[in-house]
Amino acid sequence: MRGKRSKQYRKLMHAYALTFHFRAPYQVLLSSTIIRDAARFKMQLGSMLSNTLHGEIKPMITQCCIRHLYNAVPEPGHEADKERWIEVAKSAERRRCGHHELETPLSEEECIRSVVDAKGSGTNKHRYVVATQEREVRAAMREVAGVPLIYINRSVMVLEPMAERSAEVREAEEKGKVRAGLKARRGAEAGGVKRKAEEEEGEEGEDEGAQEEAAAPKKKKARGPKGPNPLSVKKPKKENQEKSAGKKVEEERSVLRKAAKQDPQAADKAVKAEVAVGEGGASADGASGKRKRRRKPKESGDAASALKAEVGDEE
Ligand SMILES: [Zn+2]
Repeated sequence: MRGKRSKQYRKLMHAYALTFHFRAPYQVLLSSTIIRDAARFKMQLGSMLSNTLHGEIKPMITQCCIRHLYNAVPEPGHEADKERWIEVAKSAERRRCGHHELETPLSEEECIRSVVDAKGSGTNKHRYVVATQEREVRAAMREVAGVPLIYINRSVMVLEPMAERSAEVREAEEKGKVRAGLKARRGAEAGGVKRKAEEEEGEEGEDEGAQEEAAAPKKKKARGPKGPNPLSVKKPKKENQEKSAGKKVEEERSVLRKAAKQDPQAADKAVKAEVAVGEGGASADGASGKRKRRRKPKESGDAASALKAEVGDEE
């Protein structure tokens, strides 16, 4: 089998597996006609079937089809073929169709239809693959959803493209899956929002951020639990601020001292500046001392005014 066709058939069987749950070993119903043509073209029916279907096969044949085979007369010059037919038929598992008591067997179309879709519900309950040379049988089987169809065309085995009826079922199922997938995702996102909201309840001023994150694609969800715990983050931040404020003050002081050494005239300025910096540093270091100083002149001053004074100093 050529590479391109092989790939195409593999893909097709994958589609049958997804939508109609086909699994190897594939049960292949053989009609008398495909057994006869395989013998005529000297084809190894079993290995060709499993190559075409990309998996182990379980050949089967109905009682009626066997009877048709026994009754058939080989073409002149091909009398020896009959032996081969019977050999192949015997190597297949006999599928009881319940027609063996009839005086004459049912037509292969009627018999195969009764085996594939006994209730006439249009479904291939036992997941049969049907291999037949008769166009009428294949046409009938195309009306049943999910029946892979095989025939031989001039010594080439062909797996028919998925019939319209089957393709419709497949399409509907895929749409359903997409819908179900979206639903599931929405559900998960809603859950994510709830969880996030609960996690961030304790944080101040981040409600808007939380909502934005929830609305964003689901990738962000995973970040939630890994995000920094605000309680563990905020304290160090404050300490750092204090430290850096203290550092700044020290740096400015040393700069001013240096400037004073280089330029004696600037010494006076430097002292004034140092005082100013010192006040700034005090507010960063913790305002308790300064607040006391400030409050002394007007002890009745309320907390709000004290706060204002602090803010003013920092700038
Ligand atoms: Zn039958």
